[in-house]
Amino acid sequence: MTDTTEQQTEPARIRVHGLEKSFGDHKVLRGIDFESRRGTSTVLLGPSGSGKTTVLRSLNVLDTPERGVIAIDDVEVDFSRVPAGKAGRRETGRLRAQSGMVFQAHNLFPHRTVLENLIEGPVIAQQRPREEAVAEARALLDQVGLGDRADSYPFQLSGGQQQRVGIARALALKPRVVLFDEPTSSLDPELVGEVLAVIKDLAAEGWTTVIVTHEIRFAEQVADQVLFLDGGVIVEKGPSAQVIGDPREERTRRFLKRVL
Ligand code: ADP
Repeated sequence: MTDTTEQQTEPARIRVHGLEKSFGDHKVLRGIDFESRRGTSTVLLGPSGSGKTTVLRSLNVLDTPERGVIAIDDVEVDFSRVPAGKAGRRETGRLRAQSGMVFQAHNLFPHRTVLENLIEGPVIAQQRPREEAVAEARALLDQVGLGDRADSYPFQLSGGQQQRVGIARALALKPRVVLFDEPTSSLDPELVGEVLAVIKDLAAEGWTTVIVTHEIRFAEQVADQVLFLDGGVIVEKGPSAQVIGDPREERTRRFLKRVL
């Protein structure tokens, strides 16, 4: 890793209040409340189906909650009051632009080089000058340890390298918050460490991150705050030393016993 790329945007503060989301009759989020301080890492733990990914996707407005408030810095959306049509899309679009998402599988464009994958968003969606986007993309590739792979195609990279490109691509959009949705779950075990190391570096650098992961030991090391979800509610939240090291709730203890 090099430190050629200083973080270019001020990391954010997140506030989530009363978040509710259903898919059909299935109520998946039943009132989620939490806050993340600027420059901290929040890890969401919990059994499969507990609603972790839906929380993350709501922060990026990939899922639209029916109720509740999400604020990232001064951009706040009250989902029970989002106007219909264009005005509503503009409001949720502003919130979406605050965060960058790293998915389970990186979804890189297969027929474009690593560099082209990185500059697509900045140049096309954000209409930033190409030279500026290229210089920033190269610095980001250095940061994730792939400075020499700018001209490679995704298929020429290992799964771990592809996922590191996925992280660089999320950062290229200059988000205030970086969201990670099980970023290592599709990787072979021997490739997990290099991706977690990049995320750890970002957290140490002061990015505000929200991470869904099943890597409990990693969570312990990286998290300033752990939220344990079950059945669409936060059962327990606090510093990792408390929630993972000394959980108060029986449901948290049972979960940790199963996965550790
Ligand atoms: P987790 O990340 O904790 O595994 P999710 O947030 O992915 O949980 O999912 C919570 C619940 O919502 C699950 O029961 C899942 O099947 C359901 N769900 C998620 N996305 C959809 C969708 N697009 N349509 C219908 N049900 C969904």
